[in-house]
Amino acid sequence: LKKKAKAWEKEASEVKLAAVLGAGIMGGGVAYQSALKGTPIIMKDINQDGITLGLNEAKKLLTKRVDKGRMKAGQMADVLNSITPTLNYGDFKNVDLVVEAVVENPKVKDAVLREVEDAVREDAILTSNTSTISIDLLAKNLKRPENFCGMHFFNPVHMMPLVEVIRGKKTSDRAIATTVAYAKAMGKTPIVVNDCPGFLVNRVLFPYFGGFVGLVRDGADFQKVDKVMEKFGWPMGPAYLLDVVGMDTGKHAGEVMADGFPDRMKHAETTAIDVMFENNRYGQKNDVGFYKYE
Ligand code: NAD
Repeated sequence: LKKKAKAWEKEASEVKLAAVLGAGIMGGGVAYQSALKGTPIIMKDINQDGITLGLNEAKKLLTKRVDKGRMKAGQMADVLNSITPTLNYGDFKNVDLVVEAVVENPKVKDAVLREVEDAVREDAILTSNTSTISIDLLAKNLKRPENFCGMHFFNPVHMMPLVEVIRGKKTSDRAIATTVAYAKAMGKTPIVVNDCPGFLVNRVLFPYFGGFVGLVRDGADFQKVDKVMEKFGWPMGPAYLLDVVGMDTGKHAGEVMADGFPDRMKHAETTAIDVMFENNRYGQKNDVGFYKYE
């Protein structure tokens, strides 16, 4: 993945202050990683519980670093102080780059992106952490689509090195260069990919989930499938991975993929993911999915 610097990389604008919309699994992780690596970040959600969860997760990860001797207690306070939690767009005029990380729903993302576009300066870069939704679709109603691209982190953000930076048809070199530079500043390995539903990683991963739910429909025991995939060498099996991702996100992302690739991905029948979702078994986020968590 290491390549010589491209000409467009010189166009990067400095990101002195970032913002993340949504303080959930991904938004909380982005806030933690940005603050840890030295870029202050505003973390906005629509409910206080989300903010509290996001901040608690950051505190937990920082406490672990202090306990392991990788950070001093004073540094931990500085990192936490560089995450500014908020329920409104008050300070967004000073923001250089926004990562949108709200629910995987095109309509909600469209509304949130248009709202934040009015709250930031004209030169601010907007990005979406969508797992699967086309960047061109999300850019459709933006006034400045040239300032918009995908910035797709993986879960858990603090552990996963890869970030997909997705170039839409109207995305400028400056937007890509700024997003790539910010990903690198966060200690990540960005790759620039073209736009399509699922981008690169989820075009590989979702057919795998499709294979898994097909096996379960044919009568396979999900725990056995997980054990086999671990022996195969994967860090975790598909059922456990779906619990980590969140069944709501998995279901909605799966639907985007099925709509995007109807010949290859369409599932006519109800899947194990649908059954989990309908029974409020979202995975680790609410302590029960395929497995139970305490
Ligand atoms: P989540 O359910 O944990 O968090 C979503 C958060 O967004 C919640 O706290 C919710 O209150 C908040 N929110 C909803 N509407 C909002 C609004 N209008 N303004 C601000 N906040 C709002 O979801 P998540 O797993 O963090 O997923 C977020 C995004 O990241 C989705 O697009 C998802 O596809 C993507 N993603 C998820 C994973 C994963 O493994 N979970 C991995 C990569 C990308």
